[in-house]
Amino acid sequence: LMGQMMSMPLLISSLIQHAARHSGDTEIVSKRVEGDLHRYNWREAELRSRKLAQAFARLGLQAGERVGTLAWNGYRHLEIYYGSSGSQLVCHTINPRLFPEQIAWIAKDAQDRALCFDLNFLPLVEKLAEHLPQIKHYVLMTDRAHMPAASTLPNLLCYEELLEAEDGRYAWPSFDENTASSICYTSGTTGNPKGAVYSHRSSVLHAYGSALPDAMDCSAKDVILPVVPMFHVNAWGLPYSSAIVGCKLVFPGPHLDGKSLYELFETEKVSFSAGVPTVWLGLLTYVASNKLSFSTFKRTVIGGSACPPAMLKTLMDDYGVEVIHAWGMTELSPLGTLSKLTAKQLALPPEQQRRILEKQGKVIYGIDMAVIDDEGQALPWDGASAGNLVVRGPWVINTYFQQDGSPLVPVQAADGSSMGEWFPTGDVATIDADGFMQITDRSKDVIKSGGEWISSIDLENIAMAHPAVHEAAVIACRHPKWDERPLLVAVKKPGAELTREELLAFYEGRIAKWQIPDDVAFVTELPHTATGKLQKLKLREQFKGYKLP
Ligand code: ADP
Repeated sequence: LMGQMMSMPLLISSLIQHAARHSGDTEIVSKRVEGDLHRYNWREAELRSRKLAQAFARLGLQAGERVGTLAWNGYRHLEIYYGSSGSQLVCHTINPRLFPEQIAWIAKDAQDRALCFDLNFLPLVEKLAEHLPQIKHYVLMTDRAHMPAASTLPNLLCYEELLEAEDGRYAWPSFDENTASSICYTSGTTGNPKGAVYSHRSSVLHAYGSALPDAMDCSAKDVILPVVPMFHVNAWGLPYSSAIVGCKLVFPGPHLDGKSLYELFETEKVSFSAGVPTVWLGLLTYVASNKLSFSTFKRTVIGGSACPPAMLKTLMDDYGVEVIHAWGMTELSPLGTLSKLTAKQLALPPEQQRRILEKQGKVIYGIDMAVIDDEGQALPWDGASAGNLVVRGPWVINTYFQQDGSPLVPVQAADGSSMGEWFPTGDVATIDADGFMQITDRSKDVIKSGGEWISSIDLENIAMAHPAVHEAAVIACRHPKWDERPLLVAVKKPGAELTREELLAFYEGRIAKWQIPDDVAFVTELPHTATGKLQKLKLREQFKGYKLP
């Protein structure tokens, strides 16, 4: 017997249609690249997305073709998300902070046919154009008044003019929900970037799941400001999940410094945000040095890198902001796990609760996870057995775009029976009896000293808890006896006094003696990837051959 329910494909266009029909007058506010603040609502966003779909069709773009973007978080970028995917094109967000050669490489690999970009990226795109022969249409995301008098780009189009030429009489098409909706390239911490091709189905399911109370807990009551860029794994799905709940959205544009963010949080009454730890460092420094507080900011997702426990404590205790520590990957759309207390944990003393919240957390329905040993055998969930973290689910990739072979690995249960194929994350983790996962390292980063693992993350967290340390990274250095030993590379807070000896003494009693770093190198800045993550590979290159005392 088959179910006798309406068969409606899970399409991205249905999200914005829902928001326009049921939360039509709810606001979307954007700090524009042009400098001013733009306001409109979900109803207008949907109409303009339809006009954009008409414009793309008029340009001759065909189903399945890729539309690249080089843009900050803003309403036009949102319209491209919906206008492209909704009309069966594939939205390809490119990280503008990458090196120009990488941008060209990625746009070529994805075979982008059109490229839409913010005003401030015009010089960059003009420089890249000779390496982008496959791009047929360059669209500058601005109005006529801001169009340049001349450009070296072949027939540069004006976004607002494209929209003005359309009447919006366009019905979102229906098609197979497994059709590609968007492509994101992995940040490229190692090797060449690889594309993850999401489907309409995977994106809608991911948005549905991530809005749940034990995940991001999105609701119509919220005002959401995604600090995480829309070019970084679709801003962790927030442009989609906010349409599901029909809440107010606030886009910060390129203004991500502490002062700009704080002012936007206050004037637009932001209740919820999401971003990588580096962003919160800047915001917290601004708020602390000006003795400010948040009047509406209630909770934030912190992920992309481990949230330093000191940051979690400051946000929760000093500012009353709930921190939802989350772990994910581009290959997971990106949500994997989030740390939220369960009913039984609510009865624990605050210090114990804090230890739990510092972990990367539990999966949400839609993701399953396991930790495995080098032979692919599942390890016990005892909070101590560290192994390679593997995942599976309907929003986890099966293959990379245009890559031969499968990245998946077979996994066996403890009794040797097959558990099927899983995606290996390259992260090393433990899972405790309550299902809370904790990343102990990336497999590439782990420090192996005399055959024993040392977690660079633990060592970094301790250094970050020192009041004079701004940022810290721990890398493995070759050692004649132990094979590898940890080196702490640290950036002091402006004006802070701190010696090597003082910082190493800070480890005593906080970690096993043999795990204390052998040396400290103070630097003025640590290398970051375009998404704000520590670039350990670069740091290791920088300190290659470093002589430990
Ligand atoms: P994102 O930065 O959005 O999570 P990426 O694909 O760029 O996605 O990077 C994924 C990797 O980032 C993970 O495999 C993991 O190594 C690291 N990562 C993400 N979140 C966390 C976290 N909360 N704690 C530790 N590492 C994390």
